[in-house]
Amino acid sequence: MAKQKILIAGAGLGGLVAALALLRDGHEVQVFEQAKQLGEVGAGLQLSANATRVLSLVGVDEAVRAVASVPAGKQVRLWSTGQVWKLFDLGQESIAEYGHPYYTLYRPDLHAVLADAVRRLAPEALVLGAKVAGFDQTGEGVTLELEDGRRFSGDLLVGADGVHSRVRQGLFGPDAPTFSGCMAWRGVIPAAKLPEHLRAPVGTNWVGPGGHVIHYPLRRGELVNFVGVVERSDWKVESWTSAGSTEECAGDFPGWHEDVHTLIRSIQQPFKWALMVREPMRQWTVGRVTLLGDAAHPTLPFLAQGACMAIEDGAMLARCLRETPDAQQALRRFQDARVERTTRIVQGSAANTKRFHNPALASAQGAVEYVDREWNEARV
Ligand code: FAD
Repeated sequence: MAKQKILIAGAGLGGLVAALALLRDGHEVQVFEQAKQLGEVGAGLQLSANATRVLSLVGVDEAVRAVASVPAGKQVRLWSTGQVWKLFDLGQESIAEYGHPYYTLYRPDLHAVLADAVRRLAPEALVLGAKVAGFDQTGEGVTLELEDGRRFSGDLLVGADGVHSRVRQGLFGPDAPTFSGCMAWRGVIPAAKLPEHLRAPVGTNWVGPGGHVIHYPLRRGELVNFVGVVERSDWKVESWTSAGSTEECAGDFPGWHEDVHTLIRSIQQPFKWALMVREPMRQWTVGRVTLLGDAAHPTLPFLAQGACMAIEDGAMLARCLRETPDAQQALRRFQDARVERTTRIVQGSAANTKRFHNPALASAQGAVEYVDREWNEARV
């Protein structure tokens, strides 16, 4: 197809990977990001082989490997006694099985790699401090309007502006999420503050009644990421930047193993995020405008696949534009190619809430039987 001028709202992981894939195909791309600088969210991320494969396709595999951690495997631990169950191997296993590695990454590091790669291909492509307010489309093109009144025109618009997407709102009106009943504590810990067994190169899922905790190494073992999810209904703000206190976080895990409290005490600054549920959309392309990543299919984080899906979307969007003669048809094809897979992720993540927080985990004997049964089944 003829090369397009493509406007992207949002320079999150999805927007940047899409920009990279589209630039490599020769399209003209501009990415509008509300933040004044990139990578402000200091949190961790697990990326499985489906996503690292795409990072390799867009040419950043070496740069990503330089800042990633490679966990050897995953384990489950019991909230009360700390008992450990080995879950599965990653490391070489991921490469042998899927051809690509499993990485855990500090978001600002991955952001920096992707933004550098975009700037190398198109030095002016990233427009920072640019909050998208709305857009118009006609048969001929799209006009994007920023909050400060600046306007930009192009052939196509991609809303990669996350869970509170303005572009989605412009297409379909305000959404109506329901509260999941859970909130997530998250924070990053300098590994040097932790005893050796808590900075081992493995991903750990602690399971308990009404909560779970996940931790894994970042930045080649310099940092450890902490996510602690609890059933709590007095916090309903869905934001990367709402700060909480260490005492409040510790108070949400009464009676949990000392290792969990050692992690909590070592977090530099705990943040809290209310987990919201949205019905999967069946359609997110209208004419010259489409959505990707959390803007299109926001998900609970219980399969660690939200960013992986956003990254896959970027590559798939570029491929559909490459292989379809008509641009609007390409955007519809992109949506149709992604709906089923992303819906399965949204539904599977929601189903995992029950598995992680099952009441059977409350009693010592019930917990051991439950983990033996549930995670052996999960492995099959
Ligand atoms: P975002 O990363 O949200 O990026 C959107 C971008 O758009 C941001 O830069 C934002 O500033 C910008 N923006 C927003 N509005 C505007 C506007 N009006 N104008 C201009 N710019 C705008 N996923 C995984 O794959 N693995 C994990 O381990 C994992 N762990 C998670 C843990 C937690 C606690 C949470 C909450 C999520 C987790 N996720 C994980 C999910 C993952 O974070 C998201 O799915 C992913 O960030 C979505 O990427 P995105 O690019 O679509 O959106």
